[in-house]
Amino acid sequence: MITAESSNITELIQKQRQFFQTGKTKDIAFRIEKLKTLKQAIIDNEKAIVQALHGDLHKPEFETYATEIGVIKEIDYAIKNLHSWTKPKKAEVSLDFFSYSAKICSEPLGVVLIIGPWNYPFNLIIAPLVGAIAAGNCSILKPSEIAPHTSSLLTQMMGKYFEPEFIAVVEGGVEASQKLLAEKFDHIFFTGGTAVGKIVMTAAAKHLTPVTLELGGKSPCIVDADVNLEHTVRRITWGKFINAGQTCVAPDYLLVDKKIKQDLLNGLKKSLTEFYGDHPANSPDYARIISQKHYERLANFLNQGKVIAGGETKPEERYIAPTIIDQVSLTDPVMEEEIFGPILPVIEYTDITEAIALINSKPKPLALYLFTQNKNLQQRVLQETSSGGVCINDTVMHVGVSSLPFGGVGDSGIGSYHGKAGFDTFSHHKSVLRNSFWLDLKWRYAPYKDKLSFLKRLIG
Ligand code: NAD
Repeated sequence: MITAESSNITELIQKQRQFFQTGKTKDIAFRIEKLKTLKQAIIDNEKAIVQALHGDLHKPEFETYATEIGVIKEIDYAIKNLHSWTKPKKAEVSLDFFSYSAKICSEPLGVVLIIGPWNYPFNLIIAPLVGAIAAGNCSILKPSEIAPHTSSLLTQMMGKYFEPEFIAVVEGGVEASQKLLAEKFDHIFFTGGTAVGKIVMTAAAKHLTPVTLELGGKSPCIVDADVNLEHTVRRITWGKFINAGQTCVAPDYLLVDKKIKQDLLNGLKKSLTEFYGDHPANSPDYARIISQKHYERLANFLNQGKVIAGGETKPEERYIAPTIIDQVSLTDPVMEEEIFGPILPVIEYTDITEAIALINSKPKPLALYLFTQNKNLQQRVLQETSSGGVCINDTVMHVGVSSLPFGGVGDSGIGSYHGKAGFDTFSHHKSVLRNSFWLDLKWRYAPYKDKLSFLKRLIG
């Protein structure tokens, strides 16, 4: 295991730089082989991954397969498309450049740092790593110390399947993270909260290191009256309460058309019982809050508004029941902070203009959900709001589509990944222009006398 001593970290980065300099990672066959190794490592360790996630978050096995081990799909997608992604792309040149040819070549950046959060602690380290390997980089991974079982499993797995000069894990908390951030990397990929994102970007600026920041925020979920209610309530319940609401793209709060509010609330309560029974605390399918600190933060939200479903807690288990709250005020902390837990405030509107205005009064969210069959309304919301991504008539599922770049905008993040976007994030796209020797027109060379009128015609 690599400890977070500064000297060890400096030495590790040096080793990775030396390895990168050998050029081995530029070989496409090498990258594909390593992606295959990564996939095999996950398959070989499925049981251990399930156990680690259960240890950290009491995560149900089904959810671990769906949202953590399922990252294998990203690996397969990268393997399938890598040849086409890495092929130099011909670029157009205009007629006045007629003796030239142009292309864009992708090259790896070098040694990259990937810092992960605790909520999907396996996936959110491995998914960016797929992009880093595909693009031909060496990587240092810093998993979240708040999910210690997964962090230690990642160290074991990477140590067993990869040479540290290619992929290494540095475990630890804020201190380890800060020691890493003091070093120069060629890219930093960070997933976490907005406050820490600012710290990461400040540290990166000292070395002019580019960053990708995958942050959070309050993702709204609009429910219009023109919906299939049965499907709507199931899809919202699932997206909100999977991983006990500790999902960066979980619907944070509902904005519902007053006309169907009562039906929606009844439907949500019914689907909660369908999913988790009368006592979700006894359900094997419901996770727990990651830490005491987060439990207390969330438990405080329960005093705001009126709890109309759930609300029970078991502090010793860090359990908070799936909870719906009505009659919250927009100035309550539950409506001002990212909730990141199993509490769903519901706000009604009489006109969609109010819902759009509320969304636009807040920082740009990571995701926006809209339930409606009304095509005009879909178009209007798309046009009048800004968010990292949008999912219409469903929740969270857009994250699983590898061809869609995933990332935030404004306070919810900078840059994106998944599929080709992940490859692009960890690549430099080098412009290459080539001239030949068969002709050398002199119109651009001094003396400029008598050449200006030709230039003007060329520009004009
Ligand atoms: P966090 O920002 O507290 O921690 C993330 C990582 O940063 C951890 O590895 C941690 O060790 C490190 N870190 C913490 N404090 C630091 C400091 N002062 N200096 C340097 N490094 C530091 O985030 P979290 O609590 O693990 O995750 C929750 C947040 O992440 C939520 O806001 C959520 O929305 C967001 N998130 C975003 C995505 C996404 O894909 N956009 C995914 C998951 C979570």
